[in-house]
Amino acid sequence: MSELVIEGLRASVSGKEILRGIDLVVRSGEVHAVMGPNGSGKSTLSHVLLGRPGYVVTGGRVTLDGVDLLELPTWRRAQAGLFLGMQYPIEVPGVSLEDALGESLRARGRDASAVRDLVREEAARVGFDERFLARPLNVDLSGGERKRNETVQLGVLRPRFAVLDEIDSGLDVDALRAVARRVEAATTEIDLGVLAITHYTRLLGVLRADRTHVLSRGRIVVSGGPELAGELERTGYAGWAEEETATGDGARAGGGPAGGGSLAEPLP
Ligand code: ADP
Ligand code: MG
Repeated sequence: MSELVIEGLRASVSGKEILRGIDLVVRSGEVHAVMGPNGSGKSTLSHVLLGRPGYVVTGGRVTLDGVDLLELPTWRRAQAGLFLGMQYPIEVPGVSLEDALGESLRARGRDASAVRDLVREEAARVGFDERFLARPLNVDLSGGERKRNETVQLGVLRPRFAVLDEIDSGLDVDALRAVARRVEAATTEIDLGVLAITHYTRLLGVLRADRTHVLSRGRIVVSGGPELAGELERTGYAGWAEEETATGDGARAGGGPAGGGSLAEPLP
């Protein structure tokens, strides 16, 4: 059983504070959905967790089984068991998926001799066309193909925790189901813990969230069970955003739309 613990995390980009105190604990096998309006800091959270340059941590801690991740370079965080599925996976000309994954496995001290078969197996599970496997990483792939590619990488690398930033964006209905099934399977096959950033309950229909959190202006303003995602899809985030404006600095527990009070947890 592993534990990813985020405590009071604050971070700035270009001198502007974007994350204003995030607390979140994800355990092995758990799925936590993170929702929230555009620009609320969801992708910033994913970048900060993996240590993207330019994102400055100004407070708080992130540990994986007690190991301080914020002290480590990105590759060491990956080695410690953290994986990021990017919202906008980048093209890496000249590097094949197989080479990248082979190196990643070796960096983790794992046997990379079967990487070719593993990649093919994982590609089949999410319907990622074999002819893309020979291409340089993400080069000329569509948005949806890139998301499947991210999922293939997740399947091969078998991390302990995956941060998936809108893994469902750009996927057609069949691909979405396949990707969601693959990640859901990983939560039992390898006890993967997941932080799934998403706007849509269609992902969560298959990838079952244990907890749902709403991020607004850099803070988690409400947390609840899986039913909270459905409520948000009906009501939108307006209630939370309004409350933030009304109180000036973050929402209070017990407020929000659609009688969400029973779902709310107290905030400090
Ligand atoms: P979300 O993923 O929730 O839509 P982001 O984390 O991408 O939101 O962005 C949160 C805020 O931080 C936005 O106001 C965005 O413009 C700002 N931001 C994110 N990255 C940068 C950056 N590299 N430089 C300047 N501002 C940034
Ligand atoms: Mg984003």
